[in-house]
Parts: sequence; C-alpha cells; structure tokens
Amino acid sequence: MKAAVWHGIKDLRVEEVNEPKVASNQIKVKVEWAGICGSDLHAYLHGLSMNAHPITGEKPPFALGHEFSGTIVEVGEGITRHQIGERVAIEPLIYCGDCYACKRGFYNQCSQVGFVGLNRNGGFAEYAIVDENMVHVLPDNVSFEEGALVEPTAVSFYAVRESKLKAGDSVAIFGAGPIGLLTLLSAKAAGATQIIVVDLSEERLKKAKELGATTIIEGNRDDIVDTILNLTNGGVSVAYECAGVQPTMTNAVASVKQGGQVMAIAVFTKPVSIDMGQVMFKAANVTSTLAYRHVFPEVIDMISTGRLDVTKVITKNIELTDIVEEGFNQLTNDVKQAKILVRP
Ligand SMILES: [Zn+2]
Ligand SMILES: [Zn+2]
Repeated sequence: MKAAVWHGIKDLRVEEVNEPKVASNQIKVKVEWAGICGSDLHAYLHGLSMNAHPITGEKPPFALGHEFSGTIVEVGEGITRHQIGERVAIEPLIYCGDCYACKRGFYNQCSQVGFVGLNRNGGFAEYAIVDENMVHVLPDNVSFEEGALVEPTAVSFYAVRESKLKAGDSVAIFGAGPIGLLTLLSAKAAGATQIIVVDLSEERLKKAKELGATTIIEGNRDDIVDTILNLTNGGVSVAYECAGVQPTMTNAVASVKQGGQVMAIAVFTKPVSIDMGQVMFKAANVTSTLAYRHVFPEVIDMISTGRLDVTKVITKNIELTDIVEEGFNQLTNDVKQAKILVRP
C-alpha cells in the first residue's frame, strides 16, 4: 500500500510499504480522509523523537497523520464491540492505562502519552491499525470529511468545555489557524455572544468573520487590548490563546476582565512570561488543556446535530501522492490554508 512516511527533517516520502496486519485486540481501518495538523508540520520541519516510544516500543520512520476517518475492514481476535463495515473516526491517543493520571481517567495526561501518527504508524496511508478504544462510530449523516475533523475539533471543544465560558459571555481568540477557528465554532456553539478574533493574516481573519467572529482585529495593531476592553466594557470573560507566542499571551492576559480566564490551547515551543501583577489585580485565572479526553462522542453529536459546521475550516482536499507539495509545503508557505485533507 501507499503511505507518506517520515524519514527525517523535510524528508517525507510517499512510498510503497507492506500492508499492516491486525494483531489480537486491534482493528484495521481503510483510511478515507486524513487532516494535516500543525504537529505533523512541526515533525516535518523540525523533526520527531528518534527514541522508541515507551508504550509502543516503536520508533521512526512512521507514516504521519493522527486526524483521520475510515472504514473498518478487519478486526482482530478479541474485538467484540466493533465490526467490519463500520464508519469510524479515530481518537489517536496512546496511553499506558496504569499511571497516576490514567488510573483517574485523565488519559490525555498519561505520563507516557503518545499519538498514532507521531509515535506509531498513522493515517497518511491506505490502511492503519488502531486499538479498540480509539474507534468511534460515525452516524450516517456525518461524512468521512467531518470524521477526519473530529480530532482537531475535540482539542478546541474540550478547551471550551473546560473553560469558564457561560452562555452570553464575550470571548477573544488569539490566532485564527485551524485550532483558533474550531475554538471560534465551539465558543459560538457554547453560547458566546461577542467573539473577537485576532490574527496577523487578513485572509485568516476573513475566514474567522465567515465562521461567525463578531469583530476581527489585525494582530499588528498597537491598540488591540484597548479595542477589546472598549468593545466588552472592561474585558472578555475568556481569552483563548491559540497562537502560542509571547505577544498573544501578553494580550490575552491584558484582555480578560476582573475574574476572567486565559485558556491556553496552542503548543508553546518557548517559555513566555506572564504579568502576575495583572493576573492578581484581576484575580484572573490562567490555565491550559492538553489534547482532550472523553469528548469524541460529544463532538460527533455536535456535528451530527448541525451545531458545529466543521467543514468550513477545510481549505483544500488533495491526494496522498501530492501530500508533500500540495500539503506540507503549501501549509508552510501559504497562510490562507487552514485544514488540508488528504485522501489515500
Ligand atoms: Zn493534531
Ligand atoms: Zn498512563
């Protein structure tokens, strides 16, 4: 079968590999659509750990891809809850089941947490092998494209559910990449009224407006915080940090009202500093979430019932053979792109 295999920095090859076999308690999925994520892009541009993952025991080269949907084509011995022909979305978290966090059900915070597609072969391939607990069945009215968006939506949706947002609140979202846009949709679905989106790119802001942002602000302006404070009578209830850099974190802290909250969703690759005086004066709360847990069924229901129109974040559909040029290189160079889906 064909797979897009990561061999090293900027070395992703679409190549012929052996079709994987199911072991007991595993499921083989024919991949329908797989989304390219910022973390795939990070692996492509900056590398992956070359050490064997403590749970999977596997190390690169891997087929990347952890946001995918597919059809079950084979089930291993011991699989009782799923069968051939089911249409599914994959929850790609790998966890030990035995550590402090896992024992409390916080499997996203497993001390050895990993991802299908980053710590073992993933969804940029014709077939993928997954564990039974990773499989979530899609209702007939949820398309495979929507199925591939369940994973990134879960990141944003979980952060919104964990935040202090209540219906009627105002929010600010810093960063309008895929996670920022999905946060926008989730906050809107959760009842946010004013939704202010800040980004450097005019094109991304246009997309945010299309998706329901009530105000868009260009990220290079020096009156971002004043504008937000004026629009919201002293600050937003929740600022979602979806960019992961110092200027956006600083603005997020400055934009929340007394008792407000900064929820960091983006991955920060460098430490940032926070004005604790400001946090204390406002008795604000600065917090974060990592991935998601126990929300795939809810995300699928939200899509199925029309409350989250996630297809709006798709900017391009491509074939697996074009993944390097049309996918990874395009995402690196073209800020207009939000979510690119790949069909193996
Ligand atoms: Zn991702
Ligand atoms: Zn664990």
